[in-house]
Amino acid sequence: MPRTLDPNLKRALAERLRYYNDLGIYDFYRRERAASVSADTAATLTPETQPELREEMPASSKAIVAVSITEEDLFAVPKPESGVTDPVKALRIIRDDLGDCTRCRLHKQGRKQIVFGVGNPKAELMFIGEAPGADEDQQGEPFVGRAGQLLNNMIKAMGLRREDVYIANIIKCRPPGNRTPERDECDTCSPFLMRQIAVIRPKAIVALGAVAAKTLLAINAPMSEFRGHWYDFRGTKLAVTYHPAFLLRDPRQKKETWKDLQMVMKELGLPIAGKSVE
Ligand code: URA
Repeated sequence: MPRTLDPNLKRALAERLRYYNDLGIYDFYRRERAASVSADTAATLTPETQPELREEMPASSKAIVAVSITEEDLFAVPKPESGVTDPVKALRIIRDDLGDCTRCRLHKQGRKQIVFGVGNPKAELMFIGEAPGADEDQQGEPFVGRAGQLLNNMIKAMGLRREDVYIANIIKCRPPGNRTPERDECDTCSPFLMRQIAVIRPKAIVALGAVAAKTLLAINAPMSEFRGHWYDFRGTKLAVTYHPAFLLRDPRQKKETWKDLQMVMKELGLPIAGKSVE
């Protein structure tokens, strides 16, 4: 039988969930139940004594909340696009939910517009970069500058057209001076990307560069370790290759990139013979 929650705890949890939903975060996972904490003890915890309701959690307390929360309470938060079967409509709902986003500092640091993503809403292949640069900020589309031209060549070398794939970034606003996105900016923005991926349901994702790889995989590794393997990203195959901007600086690595792309082509059943990235 489902346990009932303390009303104060339930109210606090509902408020916290609404707060996360406002940030665009809908996915929550369930922690394993702590063997040492009884259900009765856990159900009497208040927000003040309940470590999970604070930002910082001592490791020893991490499992407590799972004891007192039922699936119905926590996990039945539908995303606005849930149940929308047309990916065009679902992506529009996510874009509307994003609105004229002010969730992180980048909205007041010179961004001209939000760069949501572009391409086939039913794409089998998705490319995910880091952040919009000046050209992307100007035009509202990812990868339209010099790095974008090279990405277009990579896509063409795979025997595809830009409009066949879907292209997005970890964050949707240009960081000032094209600096690397901060961790909190990635954390705030990437839930919208996760929702885009969930709608598009590609067969494979290619993370372009270390920022995309580290954010998506939550692994801190160098590119040399990321490349050459398939990863499981929430049930979708994910490969990592060099960022096109890096290839502009070091064109010798195009050969290596081509190896990564061939691995992806093989997975997607695309013919490989006689092609290369220029
Ligand atoms: N670099 C990126 O990571 N993304 C873009 O959209 C453009 C350049």
